[in-house]
Amino acid sequence: MKTKKKPATSMAKKGFPARFKNFPMVPRVVYGAGCFDQLGDILLPKRKNSEAPVIYLVDEVFEHKSLPGRLPVLFNDKVIFISADEEPKTEQVDSLVSYIKEEFEELPSGVVGIGGGTLLDLAKAVSIMLNNNGSAHNYQGWDLVGKPAIYHVGIPTISGTGAEVSRTTVLLGPSKKLGINSDYTTFDQVLLDPDLTIGVPKDQWFYTGMDCYIHCIESLNGSYLNAFSQSYGEKALDMCKEVFLGDLSPEESREKLMMASWHGGMSIAYSQVGVAHAMSYGLSYVLGTKHGIGNCLVFQHLQEYYPEGVKLFHEMKRQHKIELPKNICSALTDEEMDTMISVSLGMEPLWENALGRSWREKISRETLKELYLKI
Ligand code: NAD
Ligand code: ZN
Repeated sequence: MKTKKKPATSMAKKGFPARFKNFPMVPRVVYGAGCFDQLGDILLPKRKNSEAPVIYLVDEVFEHKSLPGRLPVLFNDKVIFISADEEPKTEQVDSLVSYIKEEFEELPSGVVGIGGGTLLDLAKAVSIMLNNNGSAHNYQGWDLVGKPAIYHVGIPTISGTGAEVSRTTVLLGPSKKLGINSDYTTFDQVLLDPDLTIGVPKDQWFYTGMDCYIHCIESLNGSYLNAFSQSYGEKALDMCKEVFLGDLSPEESREKLMMASWHGGMSIAYSQVGVAHAMSYGLSYVLGTKHGIGNCLVFQHLQEYYPEGVKLFHEMKRQHKIELPKNICSALTDEEMDTMISVSLGMEPLWENALGRSWREKISRETLKELYLKI
């Protein structure tokens, strides 16, 4: 669906701060089915010496598959398999960094993350923390990272989050779920091989793909919209429609969803997400609900905020016979519900993007409670 909104000629008028963001983009990207086998050539000039390993952080789902055998492991490189069952935590990043520092005399030549948003975010965070002191939780926020990260490469194996292009790594810390947003977070290199997404289970394909779709809807219907974001968001939305409602071959579908994810991520880089993401953060913080499914659980009830987007979401869900779990908030204590609402309302820029500068007058704790209880 094309948004009816026109981007403002002056972004400042639309609530954007007067200073414009000067954000980094991924400087190098290789794309194409089978391009994974070029990884060795890409890493070779980045190797400092035989003592400085490349650390591969790989989704555990690949442990007994053919992918590890295709990794260009040399010298004392290390492959670490990590489960994506839970979203990444600051303490997990800290222990990976301690392990790498203890195990090797030299800092690594590079860190390569292979998997979905979970592994991509872990690779970003580990590469930052190898060069910065203290715990990862000290860097959750905006522009708190002092020194550049170690060279890091992102290789998505499931499409939708846009984590491959973003300047953040979302981590669950002791007191908050928040990204390390910095100019050093963005990958130095991304490798987009649509064939790596073969084998993603259908439900997960839908949830993570819908993350991309929801990025587009929230960006295109937000008050921060501008021509930069719109140009990427509309393209990503068109591709999502082709993938989830069209008649593509499996190969085309993998290719288009991978590029939709990229464009969706670029769209929110210069705007923001909205209500579904703000509420999904609350779900994730209190119940550990994962990002993709959490967004779907919330978004299905947001017809008041995104009428056309929600209608189309239900059509996609029907077409792919996806059943979402029900009543997941019904057993929450009052205290848990309160925390969930507070975490959600704490995502101020998301609410401002969704509802405008006077968002506080437009959303109440009661409305959020009603919405959560529908889930
Ligand atoms: P994920 O990494 O959590 O993986 C989801 C599931 O898919 C896992 O079970 C995983 O093992 C499996 N999987 C992945 N690739 C597979 C493959 N090729 N074959 C079979 N199974 C496969 O999924 P996600 O939705 O990509 O990532 C969610 C995470 O991304 C959350 O932690 C969220 O906070 C984060 N995120 C980050 C950003 C960002 O900009 N940094 C943006 C959105 C979301
Ligand atoms: Zn998202």
